[in-house]
Amino acid sequence: MPHPTFTIVYLAGLVTGCGIRAVYARRRKNARDRRFTITEGVLLGLAGVGLQIVPLVYVCGPWLDFADYGLPVPLAVAAGSVGTILFAAALWLLWRAHVDLGRNWSALVEIQAEHTLVTGGVYRRIRHPMYAAHWLWAIAQALLLQNWIAGGSFIVSFLPLYLLRVPREERAMLDHFGDAYRQYTAHTGRMWPRRRGRE
Ligand code: SAH
Repeated sequence: MPHPTFTIVYLAGLVTGCGIRAVYARRRKNARDRRFTITEGVLLGLAGVGLQIVPLVYVCGPWLDFADYGLPVPLAVAAGSVGTILFAAALWLLWRAHVDLGRNWSALVEIQAEHTLVTGGVYRRIRHPMYAAHWLWAIAQALLLQNWIAGGSFIVSFLPLYLLRVPREERAMLDHFGDAYRQYTAHTGRMWPRRRGRE
């Protein structure tokens, strides 16, 4: 069974993260260029399974307990504490990115009728703060749920979506914002800020 304290931290984080997403998903959008593919739909579904379904199966019953890491207590506590900090950081970044992106946010790769290029806030130094938040979340999940399957499920299921999405999204932004986006990419990193000397 997962450690009760870290399980509660994990569940609180999951509910908060889904809440942030739900608030912004309800806002009406009017896409003028949607670049949706079946592959992307399948990978989105897969990431959802790794983010929610597998961890909840682990938390709700004994079925996945055979895959527990079995860490010594001091190491388990250290891992869970780092996981707690990373989960808090992930949720803060996810929330800030939603605030900064505003109505331009969409779960899909698409350009809205009144889409604007956001280059401020958490987008000032990195182009993909939401995906960075998802990676922090995935690592936090592995540290909080100390089980090979439930802990690692979001890392494994998010990777293919991330690899597919980033180039497609950047292509769409380049098509619509041209030189403005080119200039923006020149002084930002994807997930990590560029060093100032290289701007
Ligand atoms: N990749 C970004 C945004 C994810 S939401 C992140 O990780 O924070 C996906 C949508 O955001 C896409 O449909 C894309 O059109 C839009 N988008 C991505 N970067 C943007 C930016 N800098 N300004 C405005 N919209 C952006």
